[in-house]
Amino acid sequence: MTTVKLSQIQQELRARAIEAATPWRSHVDEWDRTDEAPYGQVAATMAAAGLCGLTMPAKYGGAELTVVDYVVVVEALIATSQSWIVAEPTFGSTGPGPTIVLRAEREDTREKFLPDIVSGRKACAIALTEPEHGSDLTALATSAVPDGDNYVINGSKRFITGSPANELYATFVRFGDQPGHRGIGAVIVEKGSPGLRLETGARFSGTRGLPHGEVHFDNCVIPPENVICGPGHFAELMMAFNMERIHNATLSLALAEAAFDEAVSYTSGRSAYGKPIIEFQATYHTLVEMRMAIDAHRLLTQHAAANSVEGRFPTARESTFAKLSGATMLPEVTRQAMILCGGDGATLDHAAQRLHRDAMAALVAGGSPPVLKNALASQLFPDHRFRQ
Ligand SMILES: Cc1cc2nc3c(=O)[nH]c(=O)nc-3n(C[C@H](O)[C@H](O)[C@H](O)COP(=O)(O)OP(=O)(O)OC[C@H]3O[C@@H](n4cnc5c(N)ncnc54)[C@H](O)[C@@H]3O)c2cc1C
Repeated sequence: MTTVKLSQIQQELRARAIEAATPWRSHVDEWDRTDEAPYGQVAATMAAAGLCGLTMPAKYGGAELTVVDYVVVVEALIATSQSWIVAEPTFGSTGPGPTIVLRAEREDTREKFLPDIVSGRKACAIALTEPEHGSDLTALATSAVPDGDNYVINGSKRFITGSPANELYATFVRFGDQPGHRGIGAVIVEKGSPGLRLETGARFSGTRGLPHGEVHFDNCVIPPENVICGPGHFAELMMAFNMERIHNATLSLALAEAAFDEAVSYTSGRSAYGKPIIEFQATYHTLVEMRMAIDAHRLLTQHAAANSVEGRFPTARESTFAKLSGATMLPEVTRQAMILCGGDGATLDHAAQRLHRDAMAALVAGGSPPVLKNALASQLFPDHRFRQ
C-alpha cells in the first residue's frame, strides 16, 4: 500500500483503522457466501474505535477532521478487511446522510438526528432511487403532501444500502406538482413510522452481506421537524453526494490495493516452467501497469479530498472525477488480478473474484460512469447544453 506522507494524526488514525478492521478480515468470505453480516457489531466496533463522524462538527459529536483524514481511514478499513461493510459505519456517520441533515433548515431537525447519526448509534440510509427512476433522478415520484402540521409520504425506493437494518431514511421526495428538480426536497423517515414498509431487496452479485432493501411509503406520516428542506434546494442537496463520490473513489482505491496484493501473493507463491510466475515478463509488466493505474487514481482521490472547501466539503467536479477514475480503474485491476490468479482466481473460494464482483457493484452505486461523464461535461463546458 503506498500513500503520500501522512501527518502524525493520520498515521495514528490509519493504525487505529487497521486495528479495528483486522478482526473482520477472517469473516468476509462467510459474509460473501451467506449474504449476511453482523452490521450492528461492526458498527459498535467502529464507534468504540472513534472512527465515526470524522468530518462532522464537534457541536453534534463529530471529530472535525478533514476529508483527507477520512480517505486515510476508509482506505485502511477496506484494504485491511477487503470489505466495504467494515467502512459503512464511518460512511454512514460522515457521508451524505449526515451531510444532508447538516443542511436542514431547522436547528431542531439537526439536534434531533445528528448526535445519533454522527456517533454511529443510528445509521441513516439515503433513499433516492425508485423502481421507475434511477439515473433520471429529477423525475422521482415519491410525494410529500401536507396534512395539518404533518406530511404524508407515498411512493417506493429500491437498492437502498443499509435497509432494512438502518434506523433512519433520508428520503428524496416531490412536494406538490412542480416537475423536475424544482419540486424536489428531502425528509427523514424514522423506522417504525406508521406506513413505512421495509422489504429485503434484490441480491447483488457483489457487496454481499450488506443489505440493499426496498423502502415503501404507504400514507407514511412524518412530523414537521422531519422535513430537511422543501422544494427549491436540489443543487444544495446534491452537494451532499460529493462525500459519497469521495467515499466511492476511496473504496475503489482500497479494493484495487487488495486485488493487487492478491495477485502479487499468488504469482510469487506459484511456479510454472521452473520459476515463480511473477518472474515472467508478461506477469511483471501487468503488475507494473496495475500499480501505475492504482497510484494515478490515488492522486485524483487525494487531490479531490485535499481541495475540499474548509477541508470538509469536497467539490462536485473533483469528487466526480475521482469517482469516475475509480470506476474505470478498479474493474480492470480486479480483472487482471483474476487472470493472474489462474483457475484459483475464478473459484468462489478466492478473493480475486469476490473483489471483482464488488468492483462491478461499486461501479454503478451512486451513479453510473455515463451519468458521471454527463455531469462532468456540464462542468467542463458550461456554455453548452448537453442533452441527458
Ligand atoms: C451497490 C449499490 C448500492 C446502491 N445504493 C443506493 C442507495 O443507498 N440509495 C439509493 O437511492 N440508490 C442506491 N443505488 C442505486 C444506484 O444509485 C442506481 O442503480 C444508479 O443511479 C443507476 O440507476 P438505475 O439502476 O435505475 O439504472 P438506469 O437509470 O436504468 O440506467 C441503466 C443504464 O443506462 C445508462 N444511462 C441512463 N441515463 C443515461 C444518460 N443520460 N446518458 C447515458 N447513459 C445513461 C446508465 O449509465 C446505465 O448504464 C445503489 C446501487 C448499487 C449497485
